[in-house]
Formats: sequence, C-alpha cells, structure tokens
Amino acid sequence: MFATCGKPRLSEVTLSHLNILGQAIHAGIQPLVFDGGFVSLVEQRESEVNGDAKRKSGQRPEARTRQGQRAQGRRRSPSEAKSFRSPAVEETHGAGFRLLAQHYEALSFEEKDGLWVAVKAKPLGPRGPQAHFLIGVPNDQTIWPRAWAFQTIGPQATTFPLKHTNFPDASICAFTLQSEAWLPADGLLPLMDHYSLWAVKSWHRQIIGWWPGPQIGVCALYRRNEFDAREWCGCESGISYGFCHFSLDRRVPEELARREFTQFFGTDYGNRQTPPSIVEAARTRWKKLPPLSSIMSLA
Ligand SMILES: [Zn+2]
Repeated sequence: MFATCGKPRLSEVTLSHLNILGQAIHAGIQPLVFDGGFVSLVEQRESEVNGDAKRKSGQRPEARTRQGQRAQGRRRSPSEAKSFRSPAVEETHGAGFRLLAQHYEALSFEEKDGLWVAVKAKPLGPRGPQAHFLIGVPNDQTIWPRAWAFQTIGPQATTFPLKHTNFPDASICAFTLQSEAWLPADGLLPLMDHYSLWAVKSWHRQIIGWWPGPQIGVCALYRRNEFDAREWCGCESGISYGFCHFSLDRRVPEELARREFTQFFGTDYGNRQTPPSIVEAARTRWKKLPPLSSIMSLA
C-alpha cells in the first residue's frame, strides 16, 4: 500500500499563518493567491509589499483576484516562451501554460491528446512546506482537467490525504462544476490557484484538525465519515456540521447510508485511490508519465 501520511511540520510563524488563514476562510473570506501559490489575506500582503508599486487586480471579481507579478518574481526563461510542437496543444494551452509558468514553477509534458503539467507550489509561503501537483489537461476542453497533489515526490512520494478528492481516482476536488468557480476558458493559472488554496485547507485539517470554509457533502455516509463537527455542514446551510446534520446523519442505518452514497457517486465509499501510474509518475519525479488517455476517457 502507498503511504498517504507524512503531514508537514511547520515553524511557529507558518503555523500561525495557517491558523489565521483557517479562521478567515472559515468566516467566508476568500484569501488571495500570489506567485508560487502563496495563499494570504490582502492585509498581510500589503504590509509585506509596503513601498512596492500598487498592483492591479484581476478581472474576475468572483474569483480570487491575482495581483501583478512580483518584482522579485521568477522571470520567464526563453525555453518557457517557446511554442508547443503540436498545433492543437499550442492553440489550446500555449498561452495559458506560459502565463502559469510566469507565476509558478511549472513543467509541461506534451502529448497528442493534451498536456501534463507538473507544478511545485509553496502555499504557506517561502518558509512553508512544498506541494507538488500533477495536472492532466486534455485538448478537448469539454473534458475537465484532473489533478493529483503530493506532499513529497521522489522514491518516498506521498499523496495528500483523502478528503475533497474524487471517487474513484482520488483526484483533487477543489470546486464543483455547478459553482463555476473555475471554467476552462479561465485557463491554467486560476486553476492552479484553486489547487493552492485546496492544499492550504488540507494542511489545516492535517495539522489543526478540521477543514476550513464552505464544503459540499451530499449524503450521510460521506459527511459522517469525513466531516468534523467544527466544519461547515455539507448541505450548504451555512451552519457548522455539529449543529446541523451531525446527529441526523448518525441515525441513518449503515446499509441505507451506503446505498444512498452509491446512488450519488456511482461507486462505493471505499473505492478511492490514486491510480498506480500517477503514483509512479511522482516517484520518478515526472519521468514516467502515463498517457493522458489511460487516466481520463478521451473521445
Ligand atoms: Zn446540514
């Protein structure tokens, strides 16, 4: 079996940052995401960049706004600026990937059906732990990207724990399609920002004990297995789980709860695992990548 443990150890400063973020997210405040995936509240950021020129906000007010590239940020190297070989990949992902690579450490691996993108992020800032993401983005934009997150890569690769990961392939579930928090036309950079925020929430749960902020959990079995009483209820009531569906969920007989789960997700609750080929990709530091078509059904 493959290890999913190994939660990062944080310095006092980073732990305090995580605590503040968790409280804010829990109160419904959407933090900003900066270069390298650094998740922070505006106030903290503004005091940090005190003296820097004012930055302009992004165009999508409903998404987290992205500030302009930091002066000390990574400049695009000539190799990152080059086009992809395949016209289909270049047309679909060229500009989006190059924008991503200006703000994150990102590698691309081109294939005929699309792109694998490997990203290294520091969601809790330069002194915080790393998070590694592997994102599969097909050329066919009617098929949504899929991504997996790792706390370490290389021979000892470990995934992030299972929570807000999809059934059955354990890919990241950072938002729902219905919420329109991200749409394919938004491109890779905002997508990656959502994943950075997801990593912060996952670390908050691993280290502090609960998942901050609004979350969806459509049935009793899922909620009672994965939701802490302090968390938002999954029914979108806006009330904490402990005061909402907690006791009701515990009264649903196991057999009924399981059947309900299968109806919602089309699979059993226990059926969730990162595909071995994705784990292998992380173990080899992205040297051995599976074909996109083996991971998602492409037309
Ligand atoms: Zn509820």
